[in-house]
Amino acid sequence: MDKKYVKDQLNRPLKDLRISVIDRCNFRCQYCMPAEVFGPDFAFLPKSELLTYEEIERLAKIFVELGVEKIRLTGGEPLLRKDLPVLVKLLSQINGLRDIGLTTNGVLLPKYAKELKEAGLKRVNISLDSLNDELFGEINGRNVGVKPVIKGIKAAQEAGLGVKINMVVKKGLNDSEIVPMAKFCKENNLQLRFIEFMDVGSTNGWKMDDVVTKKEIYDLLSKHYLLEPVDPDYFGEVAKRYRYEGSDLDVGFITSVSESFCSSCTRSRLSANGQLFTCLFNGNGHDIRDFMRTGVSDGEIADRISSIWNGRTDRYSDERTEETVANRKKIEMSYIGG
Ligand code: SAM
Ligand code: SF4
Ligand code: SF4
Repeated sequence: MDKKYVKDQLNRPLKDLRISVIDRCNFRCQYCMPAEVFGPDFAFLPKSELLTYEEIERLAKIFVELGVEKIRLTGGEPLLRKDLPVLVKLLSQINGLRDIGLTTNGVLLPKYAKELKEAGLKRVNISLDSLNDELFGEINGRNVGVKPVIKGIKAAQEAGLGVKINMVVKKGLNDSEIVPMAKFCKENNLQLRFIEFMDVGSTNGWKMDDVVTKKEIYDLLSKHYLLEPVDPDYFGEVAKRYRYEGSDLDVGFITSVSESFCSSCTRSRLSANGQLFTCLFNGNGHDIRDFMRTGVSDGEIADRISSIWNGRTDRYSDERTEETVANRKKIEMSYIGG
């Protein structure tokens, strides 16, 4: 099959695929999987519902034929999925795939970083929202301190993986950690990306007032550091980046709420049970798994994915209003994959 470069209704090509490999997590971050909702009785997907690694590999090859250049593995906590390096190895052998990344809370990286790197992983994004043990334990809902994540960061660096740090900022919760996190990342040569708190799913009690905007974070940082804007590396780059003057290191902002970037959104998302989502905020998934399990050919699967992408009109963040926040059917981040 030749590369097809399918486009959606707004002329956006399909270039990125995020694959959620598991909907479970060892954390209960308040903004993602609040412990009151994701309690001991919560019905996570049974193993039989998950796409197998062979199925993920097959789909990934088809997506790459359709134009996907980058794949990111996520979850839930992807490192909870057994033998993840086996999947990374399968994916790293796909011709035409330029990049494989992983988003993780980092605590299992000391165990897996080296193996993941050897399997072909290039980079990890590690989530860390505070350097204060007590606050971090409160945010992650499991009283896990900062040290296990720092160990994960060090393990990833030692293994030779590219490392970026993701920090979700929520007003009144961890905005006091913005400057300490910037300082820590700068000292350790880590690219930090501040993520605006988003109204993903319907369990995190999101309010516009809880969002700390890019402008607010930028203004605060500018009191401590001289920052100069950096041009985007490629079409559809999500983070707006600034370089610390006089250094090679930059800091990024994911401005999903205050400065939406739907017009260049080239991302598709595959849930752990094989549903395809065309937007983080569009709760209507398209079944791929059961279709694939009926014994159809790669070409038929490619046609189905193309026609879903061709019909895509999503631009939720461009259109966000109080009404869409309250009334739209939404899907949880831990299921769809962040
Ligand atoms: N468990 C892994 C982790 O935490 O990195 C991967 C999955 S997590 C859903 C992916 C990313 O989504 C994390 O960086 C997390 O901080 C972010 N995230 C989760 N809920 C969010 C929200 N409501 N707003 C903004 N970012 C969120
Ligand atoms: Fe788990 Fe990641 Fe969600 Fe936190 S953000 S609960 S670590 S999936
Ligand atoms: Fe892409 Fe949807 Fe986010 Fe817009 S709101 S950037 S279309 S995922």
